[in-house]
Amino acid sequence: MRVVLLEPPPSGQRESSAASLAEALAVPRISLGDLMRAHISQGTELGTQSAEMINSGRLLPDALITAVVGDYVVRATDAGFLLEGHPRSAAQALALDELLRELGQPLDCVFYLRLAEEELERRVLSLTGRRVCREDGTHVFEPSQEPYVVPAACGVCGGELYQRAVDGDNSVRGRFRSFEAMQEPIAQHYARQDLLVTVEVVGSPHDVAARALAALREHRR
Ligand SMILES: [Zn+2]
Repeated sequence: MRVVLLEPPPSGQRESSAASLAEALAVPRISLGDLMRAHISQGTELGTQSAEMINSGRLLPDALITAVVGDYVVRATDAGFLLEGHPRSAAQALALDELLRELGQPLDCVFYLRLAEEELERRVLSLTGRRVCREDGTHVFEPSQEPYVVPAACGVCGGELYQRAVDGDNSVRGRFRSFEAMQEPIAQHYARQDLLVTVEVVGSPHDVAARALAALREHRR
C-alpha cells in the first residue's frame, strides 16, 4: 500500500500518529528528511547535489526532491510506504503523481490529519507555555503535561524566566495557520482524485490512527 500522510506540525514531545498508522498498514514509514539525510551521508549523486544546494543556502528544486522519493520507490517496489514530509506544495504533489504513474505504483490513499479546534487550543497552550531562562538560554522549560503549569523561576539556576516573541500567542497561531494554508491546496489536489481521507486530530495518536483506518475502510466502500 502506498500512502501519503499530511499531518499537523510536530508539537513538543507529542508523538505523531504516523508510527501507529504505519504499523497497522504494515508499510515502512519514510520521511523525505530521512531519505535526504541518507543520500547525503552515503554521498550518492543526489546527496552530493543536495548538500551543495543546502550549503549554499538554496532551496532544493522540486525535481531533485522527487528524484529522491523516486529512488526509494524503485528500490522498495513491493513494500509500499507511508510518506511523511512530502509533498509540500500542489506542484510537488503533481510531480509525485507523475513519478508514481511512470513507475506503475500509484498512491492508494492520502490521510489528511487536521487539528480539531480543542486540540489546536491545547497545542497553542502548550507551545505558548514555553519559557527561557534569562541567565542561560539553553535552560528551556516546556509544559509537557496538563494542566500546563508555567514555572516561576528556572529549575536549573533559579534565574528569571521569560517568553520569547516566537512563543507568543500570535506567533504560534500564525504558524499553525500558515501550515494549514500550505497544506490545503495539496489536500484539494488529492480530493479531486478521490484519494483524500480526512481525519480530525483529537485524543491519543493511537486513537487518531484507529479513526483514520476506520475512515479509510468507509472511503473504500
Ligand atoms: Zn537558568
